[in-house]
Amino acid sequence: MLRHQPEHARGFYGVLMRKFWVFLTAAALLFSAAGLAEEEEDLAIDEIVEDVILDEDGAEIPAETPGTFAVEAEVFTPSHGSEHPFREAEEGTYWALPMDITDEKAVWEMLTAPITVVDIGKKSGEKVQAYLYREPDEKSLKVGVVTCESQGVRVIRNIDNGWSEIECYSSSFHDTKVEAWNMLVSGYIQTKYLKQVTPNQNLGIVVDKLNQRLYVFQEGKLLSTLLCSTGLVQWNGSKYQPYNETRSGEFLLMSRVGTLISDRLYCDMAIRFNAGDMMHEVPHVNNADGTPNYGTTEPKLGTKCSHGCIRVQKNKTPEGINMAWIWNAVRKESKVKFVIWEDWQGRQIPTPDAETPLFYNPDKGSYYHRGSFCYSAKSVTFTPFTYGELEDEPFRKLKMCPYCAPEMREAEIEERNAAYAEGTDHDELLTSLRQAYYEYLQKN
Ligand SMILES: [Zn+2]
Repeated sequence: MLRHQPEHARGFYGVLMRKFWVFLTAAALLFSAAGLAEEEEDLAIDEIVEDVILDEDGAEIPAETPGTFAVEAEVFTPSHGSEHPFREAEEGTYWALPMDITDEKAVWEMLTAPITVVDIGKKSGEKVQAYLYREPDEKSLKVGVVTCESQGVRVIRNIDNGWSEIECYSSSFHDTKVEAWNMLVSGYIQTKYLKQVTPNQNLGIVVDKLNQRLYVFQEGKLLSTLLCSTGLVQWNGSKYQPYNETRSGEFLLMSRVGTLISDRLYCDMAIRFNAGDMMHEVPHVNNADGTPNYGTTEPKLGTKCSHGCIRVQKNKTPEGINMAWIWNAVRKESKVKFVIWEDWQGRQIPTPDAETPLFYNPDKGSYYHRGSFCYSAKSVTFTPFTYGELEDEPFRKLKMCPYCAPEMREAEIEERNAAYAEGTDHDELLTSLRQAYYEYLQKN
């Protein structure tokens, strides 16, 4: 049911599974070799050897069956590692679309495509959660959590007993029984609870956890790129908080909640999208004279640091976009699709082309910018140079502009890519805290 974590993240359960898999593969190879030695017309054996893969219960896992497709191993989709091959009907959906922001047309089609959410009837609501079960039976083990109304799910199959098998990132929060922290899980839910919704057709938003950028799409185009911060798993002084990791997935923006206050931090313009998770302006504290102070939070934009919410820049991009713009847009535009791309281990940030234009102010400017105009200095027309010159004088001392969110420096990209390289682990703490979930599955 859950074979999506990288090899090293699987723990005891994973090791068992892997051994079983290796055994099956070895057996299949031996069988296959024996099969090849047979007469060529002995097709029956070949067919059995090629297609049958058994799971731990001895049940058949459908491999590449007609009408399904797989993406190449090095291409990452939100369903990366899923055991369920994509049906043709899933092409271009959030789950099956490679996480590539440069494919503007495909991303827009994904953002405007229908979304399947969970609606459990009278008790439903944007703060209510439902469970995914191990079997099509509410007495069976709870294996994942899904938030009603807002969270999209991938429907694997409808079965004729009134249940459906679905897949999503578990929306497990601090108070959950199912500690599947932002893990891609599949399980069963009653088909009558699934509801397809057509999202807003003018506006859509993408957050990529890998580069900590937020992309606003409007009317088919990428309108603007902003800096954001998603959740960081950490020790809070008395315990670890694995639930800080922002839950990835496909969502609808829900209520405009307003200002949240947490530990003296004011989070303005919060919009709910996943139970307790909100998108809001980068938080501030208040100075003694009552003026807002963003000094501790704003410099961290572009890196993980929240408790799970999405912090969005208050500075305007050259296109005039910031959290206030989103807040106002959502007043008019309902059911805006908001997707979060998972930072799967193995994903890498591409290095920008050396000819990519950048801009600066030769007269004592301290930032590099992505255009000749920037709200950081509205009256200045900046001078162009190129990304390839960024490490040369006089550009090497320039800092990334916190308004227009230009490309990261090559050294920063290399550092992040090293942390996300295949075979390493960008968050060993989270990996270790996820072991409790595997143990829970084992014991039950
Ligand atoms: Zn700028």
